[in-house]
Amino acid sequence: MFVGHYAAALAAKAAEPRAPLWTYVAAAQLVDIGWSGLVMAGVERLSFDASLPGSPLVLEHMPWTHSLPAALLWSLTGALAARGLLKLPRRAAIMVGLVVFSHWLTDLLVHRPDLALWPGGAKVGFGLWNLPVVEQAVEIGLIALAAIAWTAGRKAAGRYAWPAALFVAILVAVQIIAMLTPHATSATAFGANALAVYLALTAIAWLVDRGQRERRA
Ligand SMILES: [Zn+2]
Repeated sequence: MFVGHYAAALAAKAAEPRAPLWTYVAAAQLVDIGWSGLVMAGVERLSFDASLPGSPLVLEHMPWTHSLPAALLWSLTGALAARGLLKLPRRAAIMVGLVVFSHWLTDLLVHRPDLALWPGGAKVGFGLWNLPVVEQAVEIGLIALAAIAWTAGRKAAGRYAWPAALFVAILVAVQIIAMLTPHATSATAFGANALAVYLALTAIAWLVDRGQRERRA
């Protein structure tokens, strides 16, 4: 799951627009932002197996980001940071926390069983990665549904639809580029690439927020 995670960010923006888009976009990948950093630091581990259908990732060890208790803790931290540091309204901060947790649920759909229910415990994952065409269709489908909801919400509020369309176009482009470019072969390089993409998309979302604020002013 890659751009599919952002469906939760778009749906949250449609349901609770008082949080800026960039907070939802960062929240949707907060667990993976932590993961890429910890992979680069050698704390969490992955390897590659090109013989696997779909994603070649073998996610051997990621208790600090992708175990269920860790994901809950990241979600709580995200909500508290949104409330305490960014001073978002209570409902928007809760929504940020829910978006952080949505990452684990969507990972559950696609990962092979590598998500620990507790550190060192049983690992779960429904393994849609083993059916690459279905998996890609689910990701794009989730994004499309969320984009329709967000665009409809904006139109109903009498606002421009273009920021929604632009951001979704960028997501689809990123997904296509990710499919076409060969995967990095070292874990550190993979982590660094992933982190760069997550931060770039957060920055783009921030620019979309900024463009809108100026238009309103
Ligand atoms: Zn993940």
